[in-house]
Amino acid sequence: MNNIELWQSVLAQMQFHISKANFATWFQNTEIISKDCEKIIISVPNAFSKEWLSNKYNKLILKTLHDIDDSIKDLEFIIKPQPSKNALPKMPSIENEQPEDTQLKFEEFKTNKETNLNPRYTFTSFVVGSFNELAHAAAMAVADNPGFTYNPLFIYGGTGLGKTHLIQSIGNKICEESKKKKVKYISSEKFVSSIVSAIRTNSMESFKASLAPIDVLILDDIQFIAGKNKSQEEFFHVFNSLYEKNKQIVLSSDRPPNAIAELEDRLRSRFEGGMIADVSLPDYETRLVILKTKLQEKNMDLPEDVLDYIATNVKKNIRELEGALNKLLVYNKINQTLDLETTKKLLKGFIFSPFDVANYKKIIETVAKFYNLEEKNLFDPTRRKEIVRPRQVAMFLLRKELKYSFPAIARKFGGKDHTTAIYAYKKIMQENEENNKLTEELNLIKQRIYSA
Ligand code: ADP
Ligand code: MG
Repeated sequence: MNNIELWQSVLAQMQFHISKANFATWFQNTEIISKDCEKIIISVPNAFSKEWLSNKYNKLILKTLHDIDDSIKDLEFIIKPQPSKNALPKMPSIENEQPEDTQLKFEEFKTNKETNLNPRYTFTSFVVGSFNELAHAAAMAVADNPGFTYNPLFIYGGTGLGKTHLIQSIGNKICEESKKKKVKYISSEKFVSSIVSAIRTNSMESFKASLAPIDVLILDDIQFIAGKNKSQEEFFHVFNSLYEKNKQIVLSSDRPPNAIAELEDRLRSRFEGGMIADVSLPDYETRLVILKTKLQEKNMDLPEDVLDYIATNVKKNIRELEGALNKLLVYNKINQTLDLETTKKLLKGFIFSPFDVANYKKIIETVAKFYNLEEKNLFDPTRRKEIVRPRQVAMFLLRKELKYSFPAIARKFGGKDHTTAIYAYKKIMQENEENNKLTEELNLIKQRIYSA
């Protein structure tokens, strides 16, 4: 077996052990470059892959290699940059020269007119935890080697979880390291309205020409393009022409490509052709780290018990966490006496128990919307798959999130036998364990239920 065949069979094995997204991120552009006696040397495209593979997958890879060829006893990763690697020395970041006056730091940074990027969004200010490490690593890899690592990069997750921050960080890092690279950040809403007006004024060609010189196109909230057929068609051509020239495309969305309804298949398969990574909710420890990072950036401080209170109670998303912190900072600036009691009062509006947010109406509304149905469809007496599944999901969530009894669920769904509700609950529960796509859907639906 030569090195290529050996690595191919390792890769084939690895796919059984890790998710598709992880696999694509960590094993793309890897190969065995030498094998001497007992040791295998594997090349990886960047430092992140190296760190990740040697920390998390070293054992598994070695075991797999050893199973195939038992003379192999050791393993090493080395970085072999991809061809387009830009070798410019790092520019010192502007961030290091923060103004002394803390007052300034409360001000909004100005968006760059050329790129539409907000300089506030950088990797330096982005906190990484298990909830976003895959997306972060993929974004870093793309920023290091735009067009040649993962193309497109597709980041998805609920609102306020850092998608915009992360994808803009990519743009800012690329601009910082190479002044020659043309980066453009566009919200999908803006993008669609530009296409619509270009069609109306017969200026599609010049719109496309304006996009042609772009090296890195970042489109935020691409789910917005769903159902907009003409825009999808034009975007498909824009996508292809950039992609063919190895230009980097970065997309964000509130859900993965396979869950965007009314998206043309050919676009969906383009979106799925690169790297897909999610951002989810940070845990308590990470929330605390985020708070402390934000304080440090602003050169401010708050009592430890106050921080603990925020991190424990403001769980909805990072935007809220930041909002809560800013509210307290403003108060503290004026009064200088912020204590736990005042904090509790000030943060009333930020803190919900699950029962305050998730209610029957909310669950039905969110599930229907997620599956692109009307609410009444969920109650249709039909066995059509497109309806049955969402209905089961709704029943499952009523039970799981609101602790509804099965007879109560049955009553809500037109007096069905309560065994139907039990069946739905068990079925979704079981599939949730076996089926990644469903797990993803449930997470996204829950994020939406709790983020309103
Ligand atoms: P989304 O685009 O997913 O709705 P944003 O990127 O707008 O979310 O993030 C909301 C706010 O939270 C922003 O102010 C952003 O700077 C902050 N934020 C999000 N994720 C992180 C993170 N990992 N570290 C630090 N700040 C974050
Ligand atoms: Mg956003």
